Amino acid sequence: MSWTDLAVNGRILIVDDAMENVQVLYQALRDEQEVLFALDGPTAIEIARQQLPDLILLDAVMPGMDGYAVCAALRATPEVQDIPIIFVTALSQPEDETRALEAGAVDFISKPFNVAVVRARVRTQLTVKRQADAMRELTLTDALTGVANRRHFNDTLELEWRRCARSGMPLSAIMIDIDHFKRYNDAYGHQAGDQCLQKVAVAMKRCASRPQDLLARYGGEEFILLLPQEGLAGATAVARRILDEVDALALPHEASPTSSVVSVSMGIATLQPGEASEPEALIRNADEQLYRAKLHGRNRYSVASAGEPPARHSA
Ligand code: GH3
Ligand code: MG
Ligand code: MG
Repeated sequence: MSWTDLAVNGRILIVDDAMENVQVLYQALRDEQEVLFALDGPTAIEIARQQLPDLILLDAVMPGMDGYAVCAALRATPEVQDIPIIFVTALSQPEDETRALEAGAVDFISKPFNVAVVRARVRTQLTVKRQADAMRELTLTDALTGVANRRHFNDTLELEWRRCARSGMPLSAIMIDIDHFKRYNDAYGHQAGDQCLQKVAVAMKRCASRPQDLLARYGGEEFILLLPQEGLAGATAVARRILDEVDALALPHEASPTSSVVSVSMGIATLQPGEASEPEALIRNADEQLYRAKLHGRNRYSVASAGEPPARHSA
């Protein structure tokens, strides 16, 4: 697949207070793109946040919230701040164009527009967007296991922390560490160790499948699973699934004093994000619980608030 192929079938949001303009643009783009539209600024922002378009065609002059204000609001909203915006407007002075570009637009199309030009410019911006997305994906992914890297995790933690603080929902994390992994490397070699990390990562990923769940490699043989809007009970259920899935991989580990197959230990923590706490506390708590799980014999999880000793793998 080439970049040109990738440029088609993007999702475009058209924002214009005049329905006839929306219709002309829709006709110009519908063959190649999925098209959404909004007739005013606030609706445009809402749709952008919910549907995450690849590109926004934005009318500069609209009653109420104008295009510049919409642009500024989008740029200030983390989930949508990287969506490219092309201004579409009847204003044709160089100052208008400058103002649009300064507001953060990537391009500027004057009305009345030429359909072929609109199509070509949309294609160009989609191509640029796809390349940028692919690059970002690379910088956020752990090369060995394909799961998120620590940087991606830290960014997501900040974002989900704020989101849960706003919604009053809890945020949970499970810190996961492979048991006796040094011995695994020593017994089977570093390459087998790498394959083990890959298999364990894939198995763990199956255990938390909601779109907002994020599994990341935290370092070496340590992973962390972020579970937004999930309380202690839900996180514990996920940890149980992880114990089962990793056990089901049945990767022989003859050097392990804990089990005949590769196993993991986990620390679970839940917090209600708010002013009284900070994201680091969630990680610290999960880490402390992981330490407890190790101390109590490994191949188990430990939960922050539980009075009883860490739960053992039932199998
Ligand atoms: P514990 O049960 O207490 O966690 O013991 P452990 O041996 O798993 O923990 P320790 O921290 O002593 O050793 C971690 C090992 O993980 C040592 C290191 O060589 C290995 N490791 C870290 N990253 C990688 C990697 O990318 N590939 C491989 N093959 N091994 C790795
Ligand atoms: Mg370990
Ligand atoms: Mg470790």
